[in-house]
Amino acid sequence: MNTKEILDMSDQYLMRNVGRIPLAPVRGEGALLWDADGKEYLDFVSGIAVNSLGHCHPAVVDAITRQAKKLIHCSNLYYIEPQALLAKFLVEQSGLSKAFFCNSGAEANEAAIKLARKHAKLKFSPDKVEIITAWQSFHGRTLATITATGQTKYQKGFEPLPEGFKYVPFNDLDAMEQSIGPATCAVLLEPVQGEGGVNVATRAYLEGVKMLCRENGALLIFDEVQTGLGRTGQFLALQHYGVEPDILTLAKALGGGFPIGAMLATGDVAGTFQPGDHASTFGGNPLACAAALAAMEELLLGGVIKNAAAVGAYMQDKLKDLVKKYNYVTEVRGLGLLLGVELIIEGKGIVEGCQEKGLLINCVNGNVLRFIPPLTINRQDVDLALEILETVMDGFQAN
Ligand SMILES: *Cc1c(COP(=O)(O)O)cnc(C)c1O
Repeated sequence: MNTKEILDMSDQYLMRNVGRIPLAPVRGEGALLWDADGKEYLDFVSGIAVNSLGHCHPAVVDAITRQAKKLIHCSNLYYIEPQALLAKFLVEQSGLSKAFFCNSGAEANEAAIKLARKHAKLKFSPDKVEIITAWQSFHGRTLATITATGQTKYQKGFEPLPEGFKYVPFNDLDAMEQSIGPATCAVLLEPVQGEGGVNVATRAYLEGVKMLCRENGALLIFDEVQTGLGRTGQFLALQHYGVEPDILTLAKALGGGFPIGAMLATGDVAGTFQPGDHASTFGGNPLACAAALAAMEELLLGGVIKNAAAVGAYMQDKLKDLVKKYNYVTEVRGLGLLLGVELIIEGKGIVEGCQEKGLLINCVNGNVLRFIPPLTINRQDVDLALEILETVMDGFQAN
């Protein structure tokens, strides 16, 4: 099928639940992507921070192929070898104690919310149920996670929402101190807000929140679905801060493109779930875990995280230099290869212009260009991307 045929059939048979861009990728390799008409793109979206090793990394392809020939799925009623190996890996790398596997970031956060609620009820009181999250956060699309998400646009039309969620401005420790109390069961935060505009938490903020959580018997949950697994130039973004959460959620890059999510917790908290408390049919199945194991091994042993830190710093510097030209840019920010350029104009036209010229980027919040390329890119890839970006941005001005 060519692009037009794919678009037409999709528009006829698929729900219009997302605003789709008229592009139909059919093949990928490394940082390159080809559409159904054979046009080539440099992919600085990477499936929204999923394809951190680039498209179709041979180690992941090989692991999926080998595991698919052995055992694709079996129930979590039984013990699954790749799941045990992946749990061991994530526990050792994160410093938390135990893992639970699911299929997505939303499910990982849903599990985290359930675990925190149950823990507070057992350990403290049945009224300790409140979850505090930040404005502009993003935690997923299930009912509980859109409620945790501090952006009303994701909640509108789906009321009634689950109770017990409260929002505070991000990076504002005083506001957190005002909000947190004996009824607080947990605080849920992204170390860098991805969908909310690439907003980087300060060290003082996360350290302060951790202290407030301790004082109030509340758990600290880090949603590292987007920031985790090398994206920010460390295995976990929390390593930039030296702040240890009680619960950690992961997904996006975990499976090297294959769907899998994880929720990890520290000893006492992890022990809260008892047989029957929570489960998922597909969560942590043999195929997903084999893909994730291969992706994680490549991430750690392949020097990918160091590369993300170095190339990320290079790209951030270069972006800062480039945008001096434009009176419609307010800030360049981010960590590692999670970078944002904030504009005072809409970003949509620039995204479309880049796509036209063979560079895929995206825009969050309407006015923040986001760059989330594979962590395996090199400086030449960055140079090429910024050349295209510059040509496109030259055609815009403050309105
Ligand atoms: C993408 C994302 C989610 C949701 O993940 P899904 O796999 O789409 O459910 C949750 N939290 C953060 C920080 C994310 O970036």
